[in-house]
Amino acid sequence: MKVILAETAGFCYGVERAVKLAQETAKARGGAMLGSIVHNAGVVHEIEARGMRLITSPEQARAGETVLIRAHGEPRETLERLQERGAEVVSAVCPHVDRIRKLARQAEDEGRRVILIGERNHPEVEGIAGWCKEPLIFENVQEVEDFLKDRPDFACLPSILLAQTTCIRALWESCVNFLKKECTNLKINDTICNATQKRQTEAAELSAKVDAMVVVGDRRSANTRHLTEICRENCGRVLQIESA
Ligand code: SF4
Repeated sequence: MKVILAETAGFCYGVERAVKLAQETAKARGGAMLGSIVHNAGVVHEIEARGMRLITSPEQARAGETVLIRAHGEPRETLERLQERGAEVVSAVCPHVDRIRKLARQAEDEGRRVILIGERNHPEVEGIAGWCKEPLIFENVQEVEDFLKDRPDFACLPSILLAQTTCIRALWESCVNFLKKECTNLKINDTICNATQKRQTEAAELSAKVDAMVVVGDRRSANTRHLTEICRENCGRVLQIESA
């Protein structure tokens, strides 16, 4: 049997950066991570073993404790609650995610309404939305179409279109194509990150020429789920597992 390892297999830049920061912080000061630092149970256990505890709400932070913010980011309100507890915040937010947050806030300052294409219950989307006034979040083009049917007046209002970093490109493009035709004052920023783009492209190419595909990744990871989805479009035997 011939086994091909994808060239893009492994941690992306943002995850590597967050893990390194977590390891350094655990060694230097201990403290807590608020939520899983990345969607990878093995990595989270390793950081815990190095002396950093996992907490699930700001209220679990001890006064003055160092608290690490995960790669997906957090809403503004969460950071305020940490501040109230006197926690010292260390941010492991991926710069690509932070860029979306900044673009969204800048657009709102210009009077634009933020439209975000992504999974509304994903921590990254919740985190970005938590810095916006009234973001509109759509998971697919059907939701966008339904919204505009109800709100035809929206078509001429100033808005900005952004993507979750791990959005499937075809889904993003369907939303872009629809909104470009409908909206007259829309700014578009393709914020799908390079790491995601490369992995999705390679997964599509590989899955079209092999007999079976194995996608290794945490089941909570949007990247993992999307890669599996893309592979299933081209290959009849796709297995998603958490570790190899
Ligand atoms: S935004 Fe891209 S580089 Fe950053 S953590 Fe997510 S997938 Fe990785």
